Amino acid sequence: MTGLWTPIPIYDHERRCIGCRAPWAAPCESTCPFRTREFGPAVVLRAAWCWLGEYEMRVGYDLGGALAFAAADLVETGAAAHRLASDALIALTGYLAERDTTASGGETIRKLARGEGVEIGRALYGAAARVEGVPFDPDLFDPSPCTSGVEGGTRDDRR
Ligand SMILES: [Zn+2]
Repeated sequence: MTGLWTPIPIYDHERRCIGCRAPWAAPCESTCPFRTREFGPAVVLRAAWCWLGEYEMRVGYDLGGALAFAAADLVETGAAAHRLASDALIALTGYLAERDTTASGGETIRKLARGEGVEIGRALYGAAARVEGVPFDPDLFDPSPCTSGVEGGTRDDRR
């Protein structure tokens, strides 16, 4: 494998870039991770929401798989993707731990993975906001599924 590739922005259910939150019709910010190629856990968390439908299991969702795939899709090397996916999982666990102090980190993740998809979306976006230090109201989370990653052809169109 040679050469660098730049992943093109993925747009979420709000039709916003999952990197810089620019709306669909507007260009990305110059600081957008899809431009700088510096991806952090917040982008992975939001990307996982876009791919979540592909990780639906008989019971619940393969949350780890969704995060791992989302990270692998953004960065080129396995080690970097692995680190990014771990950071995202740690951020998600931290977010959940704040909201549910009675359960361990592992329990909160398992509970989330077995629950409703929209709750996962809320948690992923809540965790991303926590990473970025911006306010987030889970009650205002738009529950429509993110399908742009899957149906928008983002992945397949990339060369
Ligand atoms: Zn962007």
